Amino acid sequence: MTEDFYDILGVSRDASEEEIEEAYREAVRQYHPDVSDDPDAEEKFKKAKQAKEVLTDDEKRQMYDRMGHEQFVEADKRGATDSGGRGGMGGMGGMGGAGEGPFGDMQDIFDQFFGGGSGGRNRPRQGQDLKTGLEIDLEDAYHGVEKEMSVRRPEQCSDCNGEGHPPGTDSRTCPECNGQGQTTSVQQTPFGRMQQRQTCRRCEGQGTIFEETCSTCGGNGVIRNDTTLTVEVPAGIRDGQTLRMDGEGAPGERGARNGDLLVEVSVAEHPDFERKGDDLYTTEPVSFPQVVFGDTVEVETFDGPVEMDVPAGTQSGERFRLQNKGMPRLQRRGNGDLYVQAQVVTPESLNESQKEALEQFAEASDEEISVDQSFFDKIRDSL
Ligand SMILES: [Zn+2]
Ligand SMILES: [Zn+2]
Repeated sequence: MTEDFYDILGVSRDASEEEIEEAYREAVRQYHPDVSDDPDAEEKFKKAKQAKEVLTDDEKRQMYDRMGHEQFVEADKRGATDSGGRGGMGGMGGMGGAGEGPFGDMQDIFDQFFGGGSGGRNRPRQGQDLKTGLEIDLEDAYHGVEKEMSVRRPEQCSDCNGEGHPPGTDSRTCPECNGQGQTTSVQQTPFGRMQQRQTCRRCEGQGTIFEETCSTCGGNGVIRNDTTLTVEVPAGIRDGQTLRMDGEGAPGERGARNGDLLVEVSVAEHPDFERKGDDLYTTEPVSFPQVVFGDTVEVETFDGPVEMDVPAGTQSGERFRLQNKGMPRLQRRGNGDLYVQAQVVTPESLNESQKEALEQFAEASDEEISVDQSFFDKIRDSL
């Protein structure tokens, strides 16, 4: 089996990092297991993720280009492709494990584990992803909807432009790290003794200390703010799926990219329709004569009423399928199906002529009179 990370992402061998990121986002949109019905989606998704992780890491990409796909994958399994800064975590980094979330970021995990420090001095950190929830009803999930949502999130402090100190504040070299932005320590980890460079806590990696902090944000460069955002919920969204709003998360440090806002959508249950995947289930009341002789009935859908044939001889509880009348398939063409269960309604009261007709019907059917009689008595009493 010959594969190539460039082919997997559909980019050329000289693609820029942005192109690779964009191709990866596209792959996420297409193959995310929550979104795609493609049985191979999970596999494709994993491969795209591997490809992106290697190709967006300069050192790994060079190594990959030099070694070719198969050799590189072998070497990665042995842990030979990781550079010093990543601390010899071996294949765990490159070839992401199955349990990791779809939006997981290995770099975050490394940073949590080793307390940061894989980057050089003054490397501004990307903003964090934030999470929030949004509830919509099934009809909105059917048509797709734009929802306004109030989000309380950190934003860059405008008084100091996110610098954490008023403009023009005097500064001096950090005494803790001598302006290097990093300190060195030896750490015992499950993978052995490792010398670890860490971001300097005193100056937070900037190498410089400022004499004054911004009073608005307390020196963080960040304040909390309520913002109203408009979320575009696509038609066909399922309960529990997450929408990613690019750049709407926490602000990045010193001009770095903002995090994203992850909106988990819950779709409320509907009194008339039950949803299973992209299919909808409903019941339609029909009368005894309708199922005996057959009829055409109108069934309500989110796109207005549609006609459905109830054939002669339909049993109560029998189910009919209306193709393509279910939920739209998310980011794909077509709809699921609508399953309609015919429910024969027993009349709770009868007028004289209805009663006579039914008595005649029972007689003509040679039914047990004693049993039927009690039924008619009951109806008589209720009249
Ligand atoms: Zn320092
Ligand atoms: Zn400030």
